[in-house]
Amino acid sequence: MPAYTDSLRGYGFPKFKRDNFVCVYCDLDGKVWPYYLYLSEDHLLPKNHPLRNDFAYITTACVFCNGLANREQYDVEGKTPDQLIEQKRAVVLQARQKYYDFWKHNVQPKKIVADAGTIGNADRP
Ligand SMILES: [Zn+2]
Repeated sequence: MPAYTDSLRGYGFPKFKRDNFVCVYCDLDGKVWPYYLYLSEDHLLPKNHPLRNDFAYITTACVFCNGLANREQYDVEGKTPDQLIEQKRAVVLQARQKYYDFWKHNVQPKKIVADAGTIGNADRP
């Protein structure tokens, strides 16, 4: 049986499985196709930190949340993985709200606004 390759995201599988295939920031469910394609590994610690590549400090994040969180600087010393996730989540959810507001006013099709609440997470940032 061939080994999984990076292109199949086999490298992230153990972390994704631990996190139930859900983005720890926005709850995007990677168990639902094709959302699996948007899962990525998020390093909770900055480059050169001795625990950066420790299993406990790499979590599951969707590509959007991962990219967004990585643009920020965080105080990480002495924090547990859960504390680091909580710290990032506050930043991510605030930014997602801004993207949602922009999308709602500039992108969301106006004809189906009345049905938006029944289509995926259209009514949720
Ligand atoms: Zn996410």
